[in-house]
Amino acid sequence: MIMTAPLHNTQTTSLLKRLPTVRGKLRENVPLANLTWFRVGGVAEIMFRPLDKADLADFLTNCPEDIPITVLGATSNILIRDGGISGVVIRMLANFGEITLLEDNVVYAGSAALDGAVAKFCAENELGGLEFLSGIPGSIGGGLKMNAGAYDAEFKDVLLYADAIGRDGTCYRWTPEQMDMQYRSNEVPDGTIFVGAAFKSKPDSKINIEKKMLEIKTKREASQPVREKTGGSTFANPCRDNPKIRKHAWQLIDEAGCRGLVIGGAKMSEKHCNFMINTGNATAYDLETLGETVRMRVLEISGINLRWEIRRIGVDLEK
Ligand SMILES: Cc1cc2nc3c(=O)[nH]c(=O)nc-3n(C[C@H](O)[C@H](O)[C@H](O)COP(=O)(O)OP(=O)(O)OC[C@H]3O[C@@H](n4cnc5c(N)ncnc54)[C@H](O)[C@@H]3O)c2cc1C
Repeated sequence: MIMTAPLHNTQTTSLLKRLPTVRGKLRENVPLANLTWFRVGGVAEIMFRPLDKADLADFLTNCPEDIPITVLGATSNILIRDGGISGVVIRMLANFGEITLLEDNVVYAGSAALDGAVAKFCAENELGGLEFLSGIPGSIGGGLKMNAGAYDAEFKDVLLYADAIGRDGTCYRWTPEQMDMQYRSNEVPDGTIFVGAAFKSKPDSKINIEKKMLEIKTKREASQPVREKTGGSTFANPCRDNPKIRKHAWQLIDEAGCRGLVIGGAKMSEKHCNFMINTGNATAYDLETLGETVRMRVLEISGINLRWEIRRIGVDLEK
């Protein structure tokens, strides 16, 4: 594995000087570990919290092209490496989290709204069809990027359109067809930042919706380590990428003898062996090494090359 030097203060000071003036907040050397589900990772060279869409668009228009930009959602599907993230990390908070009801059972949610909050809003408004969101611990922005889904429903099934800003500051409105949403991926150009989306729903009773949400919660608690420091499914299910493969990632991991496998402070969950867990003192390096070890063992035993579903970003620490 290539080791890169961690970020240094001198670098960041000069980077800050190259950034445009904003109305939101720009901060240097922001520790990221405590913001993430895995509780690992280094610092953000610069963190930008835009005040609103116009602030974000102006920033992107005027930010020099060579400066890397990374956007974080609720960090429930991301592994940030120990050396941190170079360039600018964008986090959209409450001012991007509004949920509103448009006409004809259309629900609009800002990119920072949590999936669970959208599901709850729909239940309050007696709108069905988005119950699956209640169990996904991410944000709308992350869900659009990942085409997140559960229990036979995905973002693409309920999405009407997504509003986004490109790396050059141009605003777009994409339909799911234009985004070519597929299993845990889409074809939206890299660097696109989602700022909100409209979803279709259908009238249903609050009691019915809440019953479905409770069923989802009960199933999840029984089968997933939802209270651990984790990042959800480590690998995409190969049976969804390639219908000729009949097995789920967890089955292949189990058959390769990796259930409960430990490297440093990282462990493959006993409860759901496609979930990695930080048992307390894991580094991002432990977690990534564990994932790569599992991937290699599965390849040796089954000949199937698992695809990382968790997004691994940032630089490694120099050892
Ligand atoms: C306990 C647990 C259970 C889970 N169960 C499921 C499940 O059932 N189904 C499922 O699909 N996933 C599941 N996940 C994974 C995760 O919750 C989803 O992938 C979620 O949609 C990620 O959203 P996020 O906001 O946390 O994104 P992050 O993890 O912050 O980011 C994921 C990716 O999205 C990008 N991104 C984030 N916000 C934006 C934005 N506004 N614009 C552009 N790109 C953006 C990031 O750059 C990154 O590439 C689970 C995770 C955990 C921890």
